[in-house]
Amino acid sequence: MEQALKILIIDNDKTNRLAIQRSLKPIVPLLELTEVNSRKKAISLLKQKSFNCVFLGYLLSDADGLTLLKELQNMGIQTPFIVLTPSKNQEITQEFIKSGAWDYILESMISPDTLLKTLKNSLRIYKAEKALTLSNQKLRKNNEILKQKNKELKQQQEQINLKNLQLQEASRRQSQFLATISHELRTPMNAIMGFSQLLLRQYPDPLTPQQVDIVQRIFNNSQNLLSLINEVLDLSKLNTDQMDLKVEEFDLGVLLQFTIEELSSLRSHKNLSLEVDIDLKNPLIINDKNFLRRIIINLLSNAIKFTPAGSVKVKVWEIDAETIAISVEDTGVGIAEEDLETIFTPFQQVDQTLTRQHSGTGLGLAIVDSLIKMMQGEIHVSSELGKGSVFRVEIPRCLSSNLS
Ligand code: ADP
Repeated sequence: MEQALKILIIDNDKTNRLAIQRSLKPIVPLLELTEVNSRKKAISLLKQKSFNCVFLGYLLSDADGLTLLKELQNMGIQTPFIVLTPSKNQEITQEFIKSGAWDYILESMISPDTLLKTLKNSLRIYKAEKALTLSNQKLRKNNEILKQKNKELKQQQEQINLKNLQLQEASRRQSQFLATISHELRTPMNAIMGFSQLLLRQYPDPLTPQQVDIVQRIFNNSQNLLSLINEVLDLSKLNTDQMDLKVEEFDLGVLLQFTIEELSSLRSHKNLSLEVDIDLKNPLIINDKNFLRRIIINLLSNAIKFTPAGSVKVKVWEIDAETIAISVEDTGVGIAEEDLETIFTPFQQVDQTLTRQHSGTGLGLAIVDSLIKMMQGEIHVSSELGKGSVFRVEIPRCLSSNLS
């Protein structure tokens, strides 16, 4: 249903009120017209009711129009005010406009035409302003919600940061604990190995074959345990940044030959060929010799361990003047694609069952990965189940000495 246009006339001049009334009736079909002649009545009416437009006379029975307009503006009444002025006096009209009037009409000019034009203008602007106020209010509300959300997010972020710090601290303590335990275990383990080696010498008294077998087992198991302890110790050192790089110049070809010879006994009971292909124009590199040795030992012993028969190849070449590549290639059991991502995670082994065929801790590749990162290198692996694996390491030929 269409709503009536609510108009208030505040004027002491009855002729003006009548003129407006007569002019509006024919042009506004649904009109609710209210008339008052005093400031007092106008204020009490505007406090209770809202109007679409107010015509405000120059003089009222108890005040003048300008004083009332200022008062109403102070009260926050937002209705469009159209002032009726007796003359075209610029100063008076300016004063009204400055005090919040939307428009003015000369009393002598009151006619349906002028009223319609002024009314339409004022209502259009009023509507637009109302819509603007509304959207501003919405914006403000949204802004408040956003501020609140932001605050909550900040609090969550702070909590996450705190949890992170606590986790880092817990991890540091755990690594520290592991380091201490491993260190404590190493001494008795070395003693057990030393004593079992002494017994195996069988001097001055020989042992029975059964005793030799038992002592040999003690020695072998101690050796396995010692390498586990050493790996745990290394990983905890790497986790707590206690492992330092020692950058030096060395011959990569010589290092490779020595390391490969050290490990060649691992394939003694296997039908496994071991090839080495060193293709270096300049074998001298500046990097951490001990780290590189450990990387090669880990990759090569894995290749031999996981290749029952076939071949293992170690290749070295220069990718460019600054980068050296080392690859360890085998024709062994291979690694399934879904396992390739996890093999560098500590304690991750493809075969986690208790009945697994191959010994190991699952720490070797995690250590290799950390060492290579410290050496500013990369490791890549490609593999196919049943066909074999290729581990390729890329390291800078010359590691800047300020890292050491
Ligand atoms: P592990 O002590 O078990 O050898 P690593 O961290 O060195 O621990 O290797 C993690 C796992 O990755 C191994 O248990 C094995 O499942 C897989 N793996 C590593 N190297 C090879 C390889 N050359 N061929 C097949 N599987 C491999």
